[in-house]
Amino acid sequence: MDVLKKIPVREQDPKVRAANFEEVCLGYNQEEAQAEAQRCINCKNAQCIKGCPVAIDIPKFIHEVKEGQFAEAAATIAKSSALPAVCGRVCPQESQCECLCVRGKKGEPVAIGRLERFVADWYREHGTEKTAKPASNGVKVAVVGSGPAGLTCASDLGKLGYAVTIFEAFHTAGGVLVYGIPQFRLPKEIVRHEVEGILDMGVELRLDTVIGKTITIDELFEQGYQAVFVGSGAGLPMFMGIPGETLSGVYSANEYLTRVNLMKAYLEEYDTPIKKSRAVAVVGGGNVAMDAARCAKRIGAEHVYVVYRRSEAEMPARNEEIHHAREEGIEFHLLNNPTRILSDGKGSVAGMECIKMELGEPDASGRRRPVEVPGSEFVLDVDTVIMSLGTTPNPLIRSTTPGLETNRKGCLVVHEDTMETTRPHVYAGGDAVTGAATVILAMGAGKRAAKAIHEALSAKKED
Ligand code: FAD
Ligand code: SF4
Repeated sequence: MDVLKKIPVREQDPKVRAANFEEVCLGYNQEEAQAEAQRCINCKNAQCIKGCPVAIDIPKFIHEVKEGQFAEAAATIAKSSALPAVCGRVCPQESQCECLCVRGKKGEPVAIGRLERFVADWYREHGTEKTAKPASNGVKVAVVGSGPAGLTCASDLGKLGYAVTIFEAFHTAGGVLVYGIPQFRLPKEIVRHEVEGILDMGVELRLDTVIGKTITIDELFEQGYQAVFVGSGAGLPMFMGIPGETLSGVYSANEYLTRVNLMKAYLEEYDTPIKKSRAVAVVGGGNVAMDAARCAKRIGAEHVYVVYRRSEAEMPARNEEIHHAREEGIEFHLLNNPTRILSDGKGSVAGMECIKMELGEPDASGRRRPVEVPGSEFVLDVDTVIMSLGTTPNPLIRSTTPGLETNRKGCLVVHEDTMETTRPHVYAGGDAVTGAATVILAMGAGKRAAKAIHEALSAKKED
């Protein structure tokens, strides 16, 4: 065994997986996990923990894996995270725990994410302990949204005995974990299992309830809720504002992914409407764009192009996602920007005009600014366009809750330490506050808010 390298992980063959929705990464088996765990030197002042927004005791759980104590490892992770099988699959470990691992100074860091996934999967299959139901303190707290921020806040407050109710607009819980991230990266059964673990603790879930429409935050307070946590995400898609964006065959990545994932358009027994595309252009260079492109390929498109206005070095998507997309046959049109979407004369997409770009001086983000090359327009032969340009929070909650302030991007303004908004007793976290970010940052925010809510409500009780 080369101690400088991670134990490789098995994956589905790219040619096979490009036509199915089965999970791409197959994860470690017991032997592989224990071999990888041996690479951890169990640092006293473990830097990896500092890179984890929910502060999992990483050396402890890895040591337990090394010793074959998998149930103990699961208990160690559960102290800090309610969604280990999710995080083990989708967290950008390379820019968090793993980028601080001392092993990475000479060689590859310990594969912390793959080990977390192994432990969570092992426990799901072999764990026998029932989730304990803490004694209720009867104090009601409302959580808006069942994404990673809301689930974490609900889980931490539930453990402390609060009577927590999660209000979710959709007919199923999980937020982006169920409607955005595709099945082949994060199987929905796994999200369902982790959500059930939180509900087993006594947390109540009310689906199909839109806060701001079905019921307002003021009405929740009238019903006796003592605090409200808003984890409503950032689900409003952005468009470019170019001609042709209203043609049939133009989707936002959010809509496309929701149809494929939540509404199961990839299964024959579901009659979810989705265009049977021949050639698809996905505009954007983030993880969401990679997910949309890889879904379009699996749905059956012959050609799928990612159109991005900067070069690969500036692409915000994880290297692993770009690599997987390439392996599956996604074609990249880098340094290209759409100028208009062409119509077939009957209201549908008949191509997308693009212009070539080159990189100029760095802009405010520090990345080199893309500049158009005059006269370099060309037409990309596509019948479907998926816009993946980022999202912002939906203004519904802010517009129906007096006293809630937002910044110029529409994100809720919170006090950094307590996550309390400008409206007393209303807390917020996750994408609703930061704009589109990551699962683990949303979880970290949900945790901080739960702690602050507990402190505030305990102090109120003592008054
Ligand atoms: P969400 O997950 O958006 O959950 C918000 C929930 O609130 C939703 O269920 C929504 O229906 C509900 N809601 C909204 N308004 C209301 C209302 N008025 N009343 C009731 N309920 C409401 N991050 C990673 O770390 N790794 C990845 O690989 C990754 N891939 C991604 C792929 C895609 C396609 C997308 C879109 C995002 C991805 N992200 C990834 C980002 C990550 O999923 C988000 O940052 C994270 O889910 C944010 O969590 P949240 O709880 O703040 O919001
Ligand atoms: Fe193990 Fe790396 Fe963390 Fe050290 S920094 S404890 S080697 S995972």
